[in-house]
Amino acid sequence: MTKIKPVGPIPDGYTSLDGELSVGGIKASQIVDQHGSPVFVYSRSLLDQRMAELKQAMPEQLDIHYAMKANPFAPLLKHMVSAADGIDIASGGELVMALAAGARHISFAGPGKRDEELRAAIEAGVTINLESPTECDRALRIGSECGVAPVLAIRVNPDFDLKGSGMKMGGGAKQFGMDIELVAGEMEKILKAGAKWRGFHIFAGSQALKADAIIETQIQTLELAGRLAEEAGAAPEHVNLGGGFGIPYFPGDEPLDITKIGAALGERLSNLPDILKNTRFAIELGRYLVGEAGVYLTRVIDRKVSRGETFLVTDGGLHHQLAASGNFGTVVKRNYPAAIASKFDDKPEETVSIVGCLCTPLDRLSDNAEMPRAEVGDIVAIFCAGAYGATASPANFLGQGPAAEILVG
Ligand SMILES: *Cc1c(COP(=O)(O)O)cnc(C)c1O
Repeated sequence: MTKIKPVGPIPDGYTSLDGELSVGGIKASQIVDQHGSPVFVYSRSLLDQRMAELKQAMPEQLDIHYAMKANPFAPLLKHMVSAADGIDIASGGELVMALAAGARHISFAGPGKRDEELRAAIEAGVTINLESPTECDRALRIGSECGVAPVLAIRVNPDFDLKGSGMKMGGGAKQFGMDIELVAGEMEKILKAGAKWRGFHIFAGSQALKADAIIETQIQTLELAGRLAEEAGAAPEHVNLGGGFGIPYFPGDEPLDITKIGAALGERLSNLPDILKNTRFAIELGRYLVGEAGVYLTRVIDRKVSRGETFLVTDGGLHHQLAASGNFGTVVKRNYPAAIASKFDDKPEETVSIVGCLCTPLDRLSDNAEMPRAEVGDIVAIFCAGAYGATASPANFLGQGPAAEILVG
């Protein structure tokens, strides 16, 4: 007997129609018939619901930015441009996409910005989150070359990290941001050069599910911003407090308590030190805004048994869903939420491993999961596919090419 491995929790908001999974009121089989398989389906109403709940929970004076690297699919991006207060980009390519989607409030973080990327951002009036003193020098030089005062913020490498986060991006030696002791000098340089001083960007980590860890980080971030502003004697117009809001992917993961976070942050924002009294604050979120609003559908093209283990072989795989295969920053392979979409109401009957069509043993979408009996032609759904799916997977591997993507009602 193979040992059953549970799958992660299916996100709220997915319902069935005639026994099948439906997204935006359309049945999985209809979606696949019309758009082909595999396909990423993103739900506008789930995106809206998520944003509405978040705005309800967060203090009113807080802006919510969308970090578009989570999902840059043009129709979804356009939707997020109108739903969010700003768009955070991390490359010149994303700048082009954000401008095409009509974004107006854009900020640009990320190490290794090329001169051309800095120039395009400066000319577009985008806030640049400076990652190093030399990048600061380049931005000032390029600004004077093209006769535009650049809008500059300093990304700070904080002296703390987000506890329990999946990916740590602050604390210790990091390629992101400037070490605290460099900040005052760089601020002075920016102010002297006549650039527009925007403020700070402090991002301490990603994918945290514990409200208390996020609250503690936000408190530390506010204290740090206040301290740095005092040191340099200049009030920041804007402080980006980072993000780190996680979503449940695996068995046992619990959704984040955003009401608790919002209440704690609201209290802090109404008791700020004088130097931050006129500062505007933002958080930047990727997966939390879009991750659960997307599902990946892939058809079963073979069913086989090997030494007692049943395999459902699909026409999809890790070239579209690298993270679900356990090969994107995870140590132990655990199962993402998954289901047989074409038999969504059926009870589990057997233990199967769902694999992709790539010629590598890494290409496993779900190990030894309990599922209704699926045959060739049935459709598998892998949930939490709205973030870091299509965009963060090696679509060209084995000549497979990208999956279709659609945004539905
Ligand atoms: C990747 C990234 C984000 C988004 O992270 P999520 O975990 O998707 O919310 C936000 N800010 C910065 C600076 C990032 O690099």
